[in-house]
Amino acid sequence: MNAWLHLYLTKYDGKLIMKNSRHFKQIILFLLTILLPSLGLIFLTVRMVRQEKELAERRGSEARHLVARQIGDELLIRLENIRQLAVGAFRDGNVLNEETPSIVVFLSSIEAGQLVLPWDRDQNSGNSTGLFKNPDLLLRLRQGERAEFVKKNYSQARQIYLELLVRSKTALQKNTIHLFIARTLVKSSQKERALSYYMEVLKLPFGVMDEYGIPLSLYSASQLLEFGKAEQDVLNRFYNELPMMERLSLSAVLLMQEGLNMLSVNPADTTSQARADSCRNVVREQVRKKEQIIALKNDFPDLGLNRNQNSPSDVKNQLWVLYGKDPWLINLFKTPSIRNTLVIAVSADKLFNSLQSDETYRRSLPVDFRFVEESKHDGLFLGPNFERVKIVYGKKQEQLFLNVWKMHPAFYILALLLILGITLFGAYLLLRDVRREVQIAEMRSQFVSSVSHELKTPLTSIRMFAETLRMKRLKDSKMKKEFLDTIVNESQRLTRLLNNMLDFSRIEKGKRMYRFKPASLHTIVQSARKIMAYPLTQQGFSLHVQTEKNLPDVQVDPDAIEQAILNLLHNAMKYAGESRDIQLILKREGNHILIQIIDQGIGISPKDQKQIFEKYYRVPSPENERIAGTGLGLALVSHIVEAHGGILTVESKPGEGSIFTIVLNLEGST
Ligand code: ADP
Repeated sequence: MNAWLHLYLTKYDGKLIMKNSRHFKQIILFLLTILLPSLGLIFLTVRMVRQEKELAERRGSEARHLVARQIGDELLIRLENIRQLAVGAFRDGNVLNEETPSIVVFLSSIEAGQLVLPWDRDQNSGNSTGLFKNPDLLLRLRQGERAEFVKKNYSQARQIYLELLVRSKTALQKNTIHLFIARTLVKSSQKERALSYYMEVLKLPFGVMDEYGIPLSLYSASQLLEFGKAEQDVLNRFYNELPMMERLSLSAVLLMQEGLNMLSVNPADTTSQARADSCRNVVREQVRKKEQIIALKNDFPDLGLNRNQNSPSDVKNQLWVLYGKDPWLINLFKTPSIRNTLVIAVSADKLFNSLQSDETYRRSLPVDFRFVEESKHDGLFLGPNFERVKIVYGKKQEQLFLNVWKMHPAFYILALLLILGITLFGAYLLLRDVRREVQIAEMRSQFVSSVSHELKTPLTSIRMFAETLRMKRLKDSKMKKEFLDTIVNESQRLTRLLNNMLDFSRIEKGKRMYRFKPASLHTIVQSARKIMAYPLTQQGFSLHVQTEKNLPDVQVDPDAIEQAILNLLHNAMKYAGESRDIQLILKREGNHILIQIIDQGIGISPKDQKQIFEKYYRVPSPENERIAGTGLGLALVSHIVEAHGGILTVESKPGEGSIFTIVLNLEGST
């Protein structure tokens, strides 16, 4: 632009300045009409797309929250179900049993504001607060214990125990005494005899426990393992008692774990190996669980669970709080059939897994998520019914939430391309139009000077010859005739020129009328020939006319066709160059009549051939500039021929001449 302005300012030349200022205007026009609005449009599109994206992101995040709530609702329905089932089991057995869903970690009650440990409950409602209720027997037991522990008189102690054994009634009493007797036997180094007692007690199921919640058979198992005896029997006892584990206290389970550590199983015995392994696994899991239950008992008042004690049917007000390393969802609730408030803990992992593998759930909600502890992550809340737990979607799921907006770049590029396309197309149209307008304006100004020139030449010669005649200086009558002929000829040229201009202006206004009638083209051609005879001979041209005889009359406007032929003949003369031969041919070809004007003149380049029929157009060559012309002649011929339903063609080669052909239809011409 700067370079261009430089050119504009420094090169002072009328023509150059005109041209450049026009370009300048064109550029300004282009900027104003196309570029600026397009830039505005691009800006608006970019802004719109951005806003759309932001909106989409907001919608995406809303969807994420909403889906999290829906997942929460789904969980609530399942938890409710679990709670109902657990209550049934609790009422019947006061402890978790086979009917309780495995997802329930524990179920207990609150008594005097304290969480009752499930195994405590068992003992409280159970069978033993002391071994004997009978004071006699109790006294005897104390004497036995004194003999054993204070006096260290083991045989005396054993005597008393044996006496008690006889008087014992329950399995618990009998077997406890068995254990005492075995203990005194061990102390008095009668291990073999003790073993038989221990073996006897080992047969007892774990349900027979002492007041500390430790099964009697577990005591003997420990002893037997210490002696390295009856390992297989101990293992079998443990293995058979696995379903009982829920009811054992932490101390019992720890004792069992200790026993399992001492146990050595023959590696070749795969069944025993497998049994030992499963015992170890269950025990390990139980230790973890029972430790967490005890921790929960301590933390219980701080969890805020008391806030919301609803009934199992009151789904809306449930409050589930995440707790522990092995995360549990804990809930407090009341149910009419049970006096105390109940506490239920559900394994969070199992719950989420069960939800994610549920077919009906999978059909409507995402599976790709995991739950996290509230404090650690900025996940999403599951709703007001869950505390200290959030969920985090997996990458795939996050992608799905954003998926809708993935098409953005494509949309973005498409919109920009569209705008760019429209802009370029508009620019092209505008430039083409502007160029055309400029060209026509240029041609029009050229036209004015051409017309003045064309008028001036004949007028000058008319005046010159007329004045000579008026002065009567010419004696020679032949000369006089020649002068008069010239005056007539020049007047005819003026008339033709004016006719052409008038006709053209009528054409422009759409008022050019044609009077069609059947006429002989032969006659028209001959008439034109006559009119042209004088100027042709005067300039030394020879016109060769070939007309086919017996041509039918054609429906034409004779004056218009004559005008067309005259224009073409005049052009043949004007652009003849050195040659002086012109041919005028009238012939029939099938259903067409052809009128051809052939010259051997300067010819027309293929590029110019496309434009010569346009109004004002003149071939811009230096030699052409010296030839007077308006650029209207061929435009007029073309219009006349078109009005006759015909075609006007040109064949030409620069330097060799041109053939202009008017093709008229014989039939159906109007
Ligand atoms: P003009 O008044 O300039 O002759 P026309 O419309 O009759 O206008 O012709 C347009 C242009 O076509 C001319 O300026 C000339 O350059 C070219 N032209 C027309 N006829 C011939 C011809 N027979 N031979 C060469 N050029 C021609």
